[in-house]
Amino acid sequence: MNVVTRFAPSPTGYIHIGNVRSAIYPYLLAHNKNGKMILRIEDTDRERYVEGATELIEDTLNWLGLEWDEGPIVGGPNAPYFQSERKEIYHEYARKLIESGRAYADPTPPEKINQYREECNKKKIPFLYRNYRPEKTPEWEPGIPLRFKADPKNYEWVDEVMGDMKTGPEVLDDIILIKKDGFPTYNFAHIVDDAEMGVTHVMRGVEYLSSTPNYLALYEALNLPRPIFVSLPHILAPTGNKKLGKRDGAKSVTEYRDDGVLPEAMLNYLANLGWNDGTEQEIYTKEDLIKKFSLDRIQNSGARYDETKLLWLNGQWIRKIFDEQGAEALYCKTAGFWPEVADNYDDNYKMEVLSIIYDRLKTLSDLREMTSYFFEEPKIDTDMLINNKFLKKSSESELKELLEKTVSKLSSLESWEKDSLQLALNELLEETSKKPAELFSLIRIALSYAPFSPALNLTLEVLGKEVSLARLNATARAI
Ligand code: GLU
Repeated sequence: MNVVTRFAPSPTGYIHIGNVRSAIYPYLLAHNKNGKMILRIEDTDRERYVEGATELIEDTLNWLGLEWDEGPIVGGPNAPYFQSERKEIYHEYARKLIESGRAYADPTPPEKINQYREECNKKKIPFLYRNYRPEKTPEWEPGIPLRFKADPKNYEWVDEVMGDMKTGPEVLDDIILIKKDGFPTYNFAHIVDDAEMGVTHVMRGVEYLSSTPNYLALYEALNLPRPIFVSLPHILAPTGNKKLGKRDGAKSVTEYRDDGVLPEAMLNYLANLGWNDGTEQEIYTKEDLIKKFSLDRIQNSGARYDETKLLWLNGQWIRKIFDEQGAEALYCKTAGFWPEVADNYDDNYKMEVLSIIYDRLKTLSDLREMTSYFFEEPKIDTDMLINNKFLKKSSESELKELLEKTVSKLSSLESWEKDSLQLALNELLEETSKKPAELFSLIRIALSYAPFSPALNLTLEVLGKEVSLARLNATARAI
């Protein structure tokens, strides 16, 4: 079988974590099976349409490295890939259903339909429109909604994730196929498109599972083969049992990107949110995922969203890229994440800073807060010095004296590189009989006035002799 999958987002502006996962699994399956993935823009709900949202979807997929084989930009044999441009195709299929007596134009005004719904609510019985089907229906013409004429019966099907499914006639109804504005509903358009485009696997959120019997009825009425159904489990909020929503602290994918989450980490994290290969492996490259992906290991229960895990994975990916591909590979990804003051420095210097700090980063935007003292003089804060837990015991004059000794020791160094610096620091420990925590905290604070900094000899090396000694002197003078 030539596997054809699709990602069919609606351009509504906000790209939720769950939307993206619905692109990742079809991508992985298509590549695992040497098939193809289609990108189709489901833009027939004109009320929810947001200008620029399609570009946002394309950018997000490109950023994650999820290239599509057919769709906007790249084109393909099934163009157009925007549903709003396929109206004629849906109308053609609609006419087939009218001819076979399986669709009817419904002039019933919405107020009337609401009244029916309320009646049912009052009687506490489920509302089924087919019980209110109008006796006389006009010819179908623009401005009148078109409805499917349901044939209530049992359905059975297999969902690759949820297993054997069975439903009774009560779930089948006269669903709307074409709206008043002439655009098809999702329910109708996706059936036509999936069939026209030769989609073999319909992979989408489990929220569509309950509507599947109505889709099966449509496939039957149109004489179309059923695709393979793959329902993807819900992504759950960090606590409780509800679906992850905007309010649960999860950012949109582009916000994570702008905060310095790497696409590799995002892909890795989301692919494992509801799928695993049964091993303890946590770090997966895209190639690993493609190789190992299989439908039978998609879980059928909700997958809990865990931002801490995403950020941990991001830290792992930052180290992995640096360690395996080198400083430059990671540096290329840091543009836009440095503090503004770094603009005055060249790439080589920034790359040196990155090389000593990368293993402390959770996201690339941590660079902004963690590196400013490499680019501008830190503000001397004697309180921070005096109140430091390792320095509290010493008097101010003792601290001053220690700093002066450090300056004199380091000034005499001929070679300002990490090993000789470490040697000098060790000698200084012996000469002053201080504990490393005390002496090194003092030097570290005087150099950076930051809560963290990399190893002292590395910080000194990157800052350079002149700057380092000037900072130590400045603090010695201030206390
Ligand atoms: N346009 C639908 C959505 O964004 C797609 C569902 C599907 O994949 O069929 O939810």
